[in-house]
Amino acid sequence: MQNYGNRTLTLVRGEGNYVWDDAGRRYLDALSGVAVCGLGHCHPAVTEAIEQQANTLLHTSNLYNLPPQEKLAEKLVALSGMDNVFFSNSGAEANEAAIKLARRLGNERGFAVPKIVVTEGAFHGRTLATLTATGNPKVQIGFAPLTEGFLRVPYNDVAAIEKLAAEHNDIVAILVEPVQGEGGIRIPDADYLPRLRALCDQQDWFLMLDEIQTANGRTGKMFAYQHFGDLLPDVVTTAKGLGNGVPIGACLARGKAAELFTAGSHGSTFGGNPLACSAGLAVMETLESHWLLERAEKLGSDLLAQLKSELEGCAQVKDVRGLGLLVGIELDRPCAELVDQARAEGLLINVTAGNVVRLLPPLTLTDDECRQIATTVARLVRNFAPQDA
Ligand SMILES: *Cc1c(COP(=O)(O)O)cnc(C)c1O
Repeated sequence: MQNYGNRTLTLVRGEGNYVWDDAGRRYLDALSGVAVCGLGHCHPAVTEAIEQQANTLLHTSNLYNLPPQEKLAEKLVALSGMDNVFFSNSGAEANEAAIKLARRLGNERGFAVPKIVVTEGAFHGRTLATLTATGNPKVQIGFAPLTEGFLRVPYNDVAAIEKLAAEHNDIVAILVEPVQGEGGIRIPDADYLPRLRALCDQQDWFLMLDEIQTANGRTGKMFAYQHFGDLLPDVVTTAKGLGNGVPIGACLARGKAAELFTAGSHGSTFGGNPLACSAGLAVMETLESHWLLERAEKLGSDLLAQLKSELEGCAQVKDVRGLGLLVGIELDRPCAELVDQARAEGLLINVTAGNVVRLLPPLTLTDDECRQIATTVARLVRNFAPQDA
């Protein structure tokens, strides 16, 4: 189908922080398959886990206990402070599980159409419920009717939600990204999540965090909410970096939210499959044993510092921002051409929200590669003439 447009690059191999095209050209990958291959390509620990599991047992369904699933669930629960896990095959499905938990709470409370508060600029996926939760008309146009039960407010605006709380008595949850990824690497005020937590406590709502892009070490913590001390969500979703390229998603829940799915109320044929869970376990263990969270934090601050200094005074640059290895450069106009310009220099980057250069390199980057990304991107951005030049 035509949904991915006209693709002009054919990648055939990857190793570490590099990928190669069908003509044998090498590219430094500053995108990691959109925040998926955080350990770089074909990481030996993940490859070994996949090989071993493929030789042992690929699939049995969720009618039986699955040791790899249980081990990964225990690991995620220990790392997150949550109580239990539902496994899916993708990010959108993990968010569907979160939305269904909120609906169950609302149904239990007798609300005809329980409401979930979502934000402008959010990205939550492409299924019907998650594209409704997404705050970007481009994702929604042509797919009416959308799903009922979502209320939208500006991102980083607690007062707007307090206002909703006064107007509606059937709200059950807030669903929000700790940093908006697709929306343009938008980082909220430091007190945003803590204030949302307090509001959810006060109103008896679930705080549901979409960490599909921000978890798995991307921001320098296993989960981005861990930048805020002992703050815990009621529900948190992860996917992208969890399998380093093997499709897997997870919806983690705590307290009341952890009890709402009863036998038969939700499921997935492939979710929690032994292959995906073995890969996920290898990813989590590698992130921990190689100190990659600390490394992501250091690399991220180096990358941000170099970009800021090289782009200082650049008229077309509106902002340079980031958290760990989730870095964005906001320009004063659309800049999709930069993707091709970087590619011509052997560097893969991305532009999101039209005018934000997005860098999501592997956490396994060397210092040299980190400097190389900053140097190349800063030069390309500097040469991208300002709007009114
Ligand atoms: C990518 C992403 C999703 C959707 O994940 P899929 O695996 O593509 O379904 C949802 N939320 C956020 C924040 C994402 O970055």
